Amino acid sequence: MWLKKTNNVSGLFDITTKCISLQPKKNIMAGNITFTMIKPDAVEANNIGPILAKINQAGFRIVAMKYMKLSAETAGKFYEVHKERPFYGELVSYMSSGPIVAAVLEKANAVAEYRTLIGATDPTKADEGTIRKLFAKSIAANAVHGSDSDENANIEANFFFSQIERF
Ligand code: UDP
Ligand code: MG
Repeated sequence: MWLKKTNNVSGLFDITTKCISLQPKKNIMAGNITFTMIKPDAVEANNIGPILAKINQAGFRIVAMKYMKLSAETAGKFYEVHKERPFYGELVSYMSSGPIVAAVLEKANAVAEYRTLIGATDPTKADEGTIRKLFAKSIAANAVHGSDSDENANIEANFFFSQIERF
């Protein structure tokens, strides 16, 4: 902060505040990010590496990533949209049962591209070669989360990551 003499009519001093930019380091276009979690079953089965390899091979760039364990409260908040569904309680306790990997991924048309890569919610219905077909144990323990819209991708990414955690 500094004082700057101005030519205004009153001849008084203005106080000018120097601002620090809060922009992300890289400008990411809307529609180009999605949010994922590698769920507890896939972490437990030592499939973090193989799943990240599939993500990279499919052309996604990792914007942000962390390895963490969700509390039941945090998992409950994250899945709040499903709170009326019969599996909500089970989902929350499962998602807080062990560590997960949370990540923001970048690619053109990221949400749809990533949903294609992960496959159907129920792994028995997922296409061959998809992450859920390869790594999921069941409809509940289905290896990965993927955002379902651009709006939710941003909400979910913001839930887990601040701007200084994105590259
Ligand atoms: N889920 C479940 N039973 C179901 C449907 C979903 O346990 O019958 C779990 C599963 O882990 C799924 C999550 O709830 O990934 C969220 O459900 P959604 O319908 O959003 O599926 P997704 O978007 O993950 O494919
Ligand atoms: Mg969903």
